[in-house]
Amino acid sequence: MGKENYRLEYRIYPFFFGLETVQLQPISESEIPSKEQRTHFGNHQLNASYIINTLLPSKMPKDAIVVMALTAKDLYPNPKWNFVFGLASYEKRTAVSSISRYSEGGLDVSTYPICLRRIIKTSSHEICHMFSLAHCIEAKCLMNGVNNLAEGDSRPNALCSVCLTKISWNLKFQDVDRLDSLIHFMKIHQLDDDAIILEKQRTVLAK
Ligand SMILES: [Zn+2]
Ligand SMILES: [Zn+2]
Repeated sequence: MGKENYRLEYRIYPFFFGLETVQLQPISESEIPSKEQRTHFGNHQLNASYIINTLLPSKMPKDAIVVMALTAKDLYPNPKWNFVFGLASYEKRTAVSSISRYSEGGLDVSTYPICLRRIIKTSSHEICHMFSLAHCIEAKCLMNGVNNLAEGDSRPNALCSVCLTKISWNLKFQDVDRLDSLIHFMKIHQLDDDAIILEKQRTVLAK
């Protein structure tokens, strides 16, 4: 199957946050001024700060709570940094994540599950920031801050009990129903390790 046939599965977000999720029209790279793009160590990169502070607010539907952008292009947060996996604005409720460093050379049948696992983690993490969750130091948690791919891979695809309590209070979702939907999603997308962690949470919460 050709690489162009692989589209990332964004439909996890209704389950993760218990909110209606709408896919907006794609944004062309030409909408990003050339001064907000650069070539760094041979990589074409987009300025994530420009995307979240200027571009996405201009595209945000009036009834949207948050807007999350996904791109295949590499990102940088400011001229001093080499790259960033994702970036969010607490105030504007916008964020962007990139799969550029996740797909190990391209999206195909072998790299799809790891790429999906990584982008779900990064973008769910960024969306939690937009709901005012800060970085977590309580436990192994989706909201742990990470600086490299290995740290990101060791972070679970699940919130710890402290962060889950906060976001559950904020969004008023039904914890067990949410976990059932997430477990199903993880299993049908071959994310079995993530399903096991969520099943343990479900066992505790169902008591
Ligand atoms: Zn973060
Ligand atoms: Zn946490």
